[in-house]
Amino acid sequence: MSKDAHSKPSGDMKRSNKHSKAAVHNPEIQRQRRALPITSGRDAIIEHIRNEDVVVILGETGSGKTTQVPQYILEGGLAGDAGMIAITQPRRVAATSLADRVANEQEVRLGTQVGYSVRFDEKTSRSTRIKFVTDGMIMRELMSDPLLSKYNVVIVDEAHERTIRTDIFIASLKTIQKQRNHPTDEDGGGKSATKGAGIPPLKVIIMSATMDAEKFSKFFDKASIVYVKGRTHPVEIFHTSQHQADYVEAALKTFYQIHTDRPDGDVLIFLPGQEDIESLADTIRSFAKRLPHTAKQVLVCTMFASQPAAQIEKVFKTTPANTRKCILATNIAETSITIPGVVHVIDTGKHKQKRFLAGDTGGGFDTLLTRDISQSSAMQRTGRAGRESKGYCYRLYTEAAFKDMARSLEPEIARVGLASPMLDLLCLDIELEKLELLDRPDESNVVFALKALLFLGAIDAQKRITPLGRKMASFPLEPSHARAILASKDHACTREVLDIISVLSASSKLFMDITEKRDEIAEARAKFKHSSGDHLTILNVVRSYEQLASETDSAKKKWCRKHFLNEKSLAEAMAIREQLRQVCTRCEVYWKVSIGETVDGDPVLRSLAAALILNAAILQPDGTYKQAMGHAKVKIHPGSLLTDKKAPAIIYDELVYTTQIYARGVSSIPKSDLMQMLAGALKPAPQ
Ligand code: ADP
Ligand code: MG
Repeated sequence: MSKDAHSKPSGDMKRSNKHSKAAVHNPEIQRQRRALPITSGRDAIIEHIRNEDVVVILGETGSGKTTQVPQYILEGGLAGDAGMIAITQPRRVAATSLADRVANEQEVRLGTQVGYSVRFDEKTSRSTRIKFVTDGMIMRELMSDPLLSKYNVVIVDEAHERTIRTDIFIASLKTIQKQRNHPTDEDGGGKSATKGAGIPPLKVIIMSATMDAEKFSKFFDKASIVYVKGRTHPVEIFHTSQHQADYVEAALKTFYQIHTDRPDGDVLIFLPGQEDIESLADTIRSFAKRLPHTAKQVLVCTMFASQPAAQIEKVFKTTPANTRKCILATNIAETSITIPGVVHVIDTGKHKQKRFLAGDTGGGFDTLLTRDISQSSAMQRTGRAGRESKGYCYRLYTEAAFKDMARSLEPEIARVGLASPMLDLLCLDIELEKLELLDRPDESNVVFALKALLFLGAIDAQKRITPLGRKMASFPLEPSHARAILASKDHACTREVLDIISVLSASSKLFMDITEKRDEIAEARAKFKHSSGDHLTILNVVRSYEQLASETDSAKKKWCRKHFLNEKSLAEAMAIREQLRQVCTRCEVYWKVSIGETVDGDPVLRSLAAALILNAAILQPDGTYKQAMGHAKVKIHPGSLLTDKKAPAIIYDELVYTTQIYARGVSSIPKSDLMQMLAGALKPAPQ
């Protein structure tokens, strides 16, 4: 709970639910609300929710689902006098920025009646009635409140994205509803159903922007589907005549053409990730600077998941006169956040996709690769051009390539690593394998995740969660990172391990890696370099950064620039560390324990090795590395600061797959330690 919820310009607003009063304060915002397409369906939506346990709402992006439905429920009294409404989002920045918008519409301060809860950040209070949460955070809430008894209504938003956490959450909601809504029903969960007695029934609303509503409706025993009509205008689609090898350059050229030759209106460019967005934004900004004063100006905005919500607000500001806004976004702008004023959409046809690559011999790893989008995404992107008037969509791929795309994206549960969600579920005494899911994961991925959890000591050979596993699950981290922090207790170096894990948990990378400047960068960072590799180098950076605590923000920024370090990532890591310290206190891990200034990092590396046992590789006679627990051959990433590139044994944070498999975030560890750990891994975990 945060006391520093920032106040809105309208100042001393009352904390009341008298909504008619609110309209007096800010008529413009209330006018905008009323003008949304969903307004005409308001009464029907309220009626459906009043009369039914589950309602599926399907509506065009921008029609007003996310911002209006929770308010309708509140205003319609559907959450009781004091009950809470949760609305889930797959992305944190969507959760925070939409909460901010709804607080504005309710004319209350963010963090009072309307709040949010995302990993490492929360703005709620006792008066919170509408809470935006990420799907990851609501799963954590289940651990302390398995029946979600705080909530009268739960809205699952962006269900069409089919993230693994959303899918698991939807499955959990079905069980919870049986227990709360039919506690005495033999059919409704048998004995365990009585657990829900005394708690008011739960209403579930599933919201989706694509045509997959039937699947959700069927899953919930033919729940009603309410269709919200959007306001759409025709969009003219252009395909390229040839394949474009460099989509960033193609996007740049297309933008130039639009800016010089095409009708007025803002431009939205879809790119796969932050790096492409930032580099193209720089190029367009420098182009814009050279425009003559008399020409139409260009205002560049960016939008990606790890961006602060305040920066997203910029895209909602009215474009100044004689200016064209150019928004560079990831697929966050596909359905999560609607931007007004867009007439032209440039679609690179790419996005970043997480995929678990299972090896044929039982090993596997998560990858984040740039891949083709699906036809359904392409249609969503196109639709963003026709919200307010006739629009244009420039696809940087051929019509044949469009026809070759998958119709819709495979659900995440079918393609990512399962260790983390399975551990969360085990905490709730639920086995993923037994859960009734929208789609089932691959058997081999389930087996691999169980093996990982066993090696980490989170479960025993009977697949039961261990006390250590329970502690691991209480950290909002990947199980391996949580394991490192818990292992640090045995090696008396919690402070150091927390420093490193905090940096690894930040949303952007600490070390900027610019291939052309690799030598210059290595020189600038030489003083942080630890011969054992990247983990202790990170620790040295954090220690140096902390010495700047009393300096101004601009001095800190300058220092980071000089050493090619990402300041955003360090600042975020410090905030994350604070949160992790609180969890440590709850788990009785004394975070102040430290090995001090010593250069001997062995205890730290041992703690990390206990966690990264699945991410260990052994040097082979031919000079390559092979995974200790799998069979993939890996290379040390050229950006790694490890001195001895022929160290007998290494651990790494992740594998990245480009032309070859590279290990990134690498440290060398004594081979004897690794062997000992491998031998011990199959023994029952210490209780
Ligand atoms: P849906 O969920 O159906 O896609 P939303 O409820 O997210 O629709 O959006 C409804 C409208 O609210 C959109 O026109 C969008 O532009 C507007 N909107 C959302 N957030 C903001 C904001 N922070 N500032 C101004 N307008 C916003
Ligand atoms: Mg929405």
